[in-house]
Amino acid sequence: MKFLSLILATTALSLSAAKRPNVLFIFTDDHAYQAVGAYDSWLKEHCPTPNIDSLARDGMLFEQCYVTNSICGPMRAAIQTGKYSHANGFLVNGNRFDGTQQTFPKLLRKAGYTTAVVGKWHLGEHMAPQGYDYSEVLVGQGPYYNPPMRKDADGDGKNDGVVKHVGYTTDIITDLALDWMRDKRDKEKPFMLMFQHKAPHRNWQPAPKYLNKYDDVTLPEPPTLFDDYSGRTLAAHQQDMTIAETMTRGDLKLSAPGNLTPEQKKLWDAAYDPKNEALAKAKLTGKELVRWKYQRYVKDYLRCIASVDDGIGRMLAYLKEAGLAENTIVIYCSDQGFYLGEHGWFDKRWMYEESLRTPMLVRWPGVVKPGSRNGDIVSPIDFAETFCEVAGIEVPGDMHGRSLVPVLQGKTPKNWRKSFYYHYYEYPGWHYVRRHYGVADGRYKLIHFYEKDVDQWELFDLKSDPGEMKSVYGKPGMTKVQKRLTKQLAMHRRELEVPEEDPPHSIVKRLPPRLRKPTAPN
Ligand code: CA
Repeated sequence: MKFLSLILATTALSLSAAKRPNVLFIFTDDHAYQAVGAYDSWLKEHCPTPNIDSLARDGMLFEQCYVTNSICGPMRAAIQTGKYSHANGFLVNGNRFDGTQQTFPKLLRKAGYTTAVVGKWHLGEHMAPQGYDYSEVLVGQGPYYNPPMRKDADGDGKNDGVVKHVGYTTDIITDLALDWMRDKRDKEKPFMLMFQHKAPHRNWQPAPKYLNKYDDVTLPEPPTLFDDYSGRTLAAHQQDMTIAETMTRGDLKLSAPGNLTPEQKKLWDAAYDPKNEALAKAKLTGKELVRWKYQRYVKDYLRCIASVDDGIGRMLAYLKEAGLAENTIVIYCSDQGFYLGEHGWFDKRWMYEESLRTPMLVRWPGVVKPGSRNGDIVSPIDFAETFCEVAGIEVPGDMHGRSLVPVLQGKTPKNWRKSFYYHYYEYPGWHYVRRHYGVADGRYKLIHFYEKDVDQWELFDLKSDPGEMKSVYGKPGMTKVQKRLTKQLAMHRRELEVPEEDPPHSIVKRLPPRLRKPTAPN
């Protein structure tokens, strides 16, 4: 009898394992939607991402995927937990992620999924990623070449040690993710793999094979490259993230990375030396120099993405050849958006569109209609609940997102969110973006830079001002909209239980060395 029930239990398990879809979560760092071929942007024709785009062709592209806090670590914590920063305790880069709390990988693992994370983790080195049968992650941000990686191969939640790899990091992460898929995972169980690249994070060091890609092209510039920040509050004037002033010699490849092997260094110098000599000869100044920096920056950025796209192509090919494509949900997403010269900037952090929105594409054969585009307000904070529903787990009541399953089925519920709360904390800190929170409804956006020495508001109408160049806060004719958004903002803060005072650990303890004193506008 005992034997029979064991057989029955095993059969039930394998049946449900066959039915429940696998989850392949492909995640990059700082990939702007403007640099995804499938999205509409002024760069569109210059950023071929055929493999990422295939997910739009075969699945759904999201036009309004908003992040909760536009910066790396905090968004990773939000995805793990399905909660806003104030609730998961990770508000700024430099916080330690409390790995003992509830996370979706733990729930999936408990429910019979085999789980792994490979690539960038960036939630602290104090403990191994929790909730995974396998993890192999970069130490900290990790370099673009020859990365040391922490490994937990037996899934006991403790680091086995650090392995030093030689090669290009994006390719190594792809190799390791494919290794796990091919040889290391428990094939009796459905899988959930977080395949997470470092690229295209600053400082945008391309692979040897792409060092000369785009050499013969002049990329178009965004219309706001020479923004003077008039029309906005103190915050936009005080930032330190301009292509003109903030970029370093390393960012601009005027000096080579210090950790290359002799072979890598040779290829690097062969590619950049002639280009840098040409720059020295040209003796550019003023706007012309900014234009040169923009070209160098965005070309390197796109070169890094070329390797990401190649890796995704290899992974999708594996799914097909292993017969897994039909029963695997493939998600492509980045931790936030990024500025590619808009407002003269690189980096992220702001509630303005380029950093609030992140690319998101989902392929789910038989469920998502191929080639569909979705305009609902969705967020990476919805993933935890989505994956719980997919895995047949009761969704915990304390998460802040909402399952995307009906949205993916093309049946967005009538009561789907009509507006969204955002909150950025990291000031003082890198790039000097003031703390702010706000609400966005797809057309209007209300932002409060709430620190006592600023206390200023901005309101934008994206229909008449898609570049967010001129705040209409307090302007005649905006009273009704402003009142409505102010009410929604208060509602979100109440429902999410956002504390009135920022938690003490939102203060960055270790300030960057080259912080310059911010200056007030003239
Ligand atoms: Ca990031």
